[in-house]
Amino acid sequence: MGSTIGFIGLGNMGAPMAANLAQAGHDVRGYDVAGTTAEGVAPCASIEDAAKGADFVITMLPNGEILRDVAAQLIPGMSKGATLIDCSTVDVESARSVAADAGAAGIGFVDAPVSGGIGGAAAGTLTFMAGGDDASFAAAAPLFDVMGQKAVHCGAAGAGQAAKICNNMILGITMIGTCEAFALADKLGLDRQKMFDVVSTSSGYSWSMNAYCPAPGVGPTSPADNGYVPGFAAELMLKDLGLSQQAAEAADADTPMGALARALYAQFVENEDGLGKDFSAMLPRLMQRGRS
Ligand code: NAD
Repeated sequence: MGSTIGFIGLGNMGAPMAANLAQAGHDVRGYDVAGTTAEGVAPCASIEDAAKGADFVITMLPNGEILRDVAAQLIPGMSKGATLIDCSTVDVESARSVAADAGAAGIGFVDAPVSGGIGGAAAGTLTFMAGGDDASFAAAAPLFDVMGQKAVHCGAAGAGQAAKICNNMILGITMIGTCEAFALADKLGLDRQKMFDVVSTSSGYSWSMNAYCPAPGVGPTSPADNGYVPGFAAELMLKDLGLSQQAAEAADADTPMGALARALYAQFVENEDGLGKDFSAMLPRLMQRGRS
């Protein structure tokens, strides 16, 4: 039998995720402050309305501050024994704080940020990185099966966000590394296709090179082949690199490459023409430059 699900945040990711749950036979009610809706999802007038009587409430919101604000409105109206699942990418502290508030109210909590982007949300092929107690994860697992192809239970509350920001710190660093290697190869007169043929099967390989090659016309089709239209926007990479640096500061972890990647994406998005471009557009940015 289907569950009753409140879905808060029907944006680029949330709307297709909510639509997939409705399509699978769940009774989904949605709320978004911007008034957006999703196919098969009954619109609610408020956050409290979406919470009332729901077995699950799922949030898909821009950041931790908004999550905390929304959770403070949600939790008092949720039924005891219901589960709150936050799929947004937020700071680890916000995830832990909302988990504590939910726990104190007798509500389960799972932080479950996703990988897979808008395409994965629409196709129901997201990967969920989940944090929370075993009972909350077990309750949420059938919904992850509808919205995604894989869910990894990473540990206690906050562990999902920790996994997400560590993964994306690696991604930001390897994308910059791949782009600067292509820019250097150009200046050395090395053909890009040859560079791909070697690196994609040698020790320099990575997801950035093999699956999402930043050079147009080389490797599998990627945003580089479509004028660097995202894909995964540079400003979203900047957000995630900011979260990993925030976490590194709080945990006293030495992350010099992550810090440099964050600084480069900040420069690109805030002072250059990176806003609205795919994060792999770091390649044309680097190609235009010399050493000074
Ligand atoms: P989005 O901006 O399209 O959607 C967020 C939605 O939340 C918006 O529709 C907004 O109106 C709504 N919202 C904001 N404040 C609200 C409030 N107080 N109450 C109710 N609704 C509110 O963003 P998105 O691309 O859907 O991303 C959502 C989350 O998923 C982010 O945390 C992002 O980092 C993460 N994420 C995005 C992608 C991607 O490719 N877009 C990939 C992985 C993870």
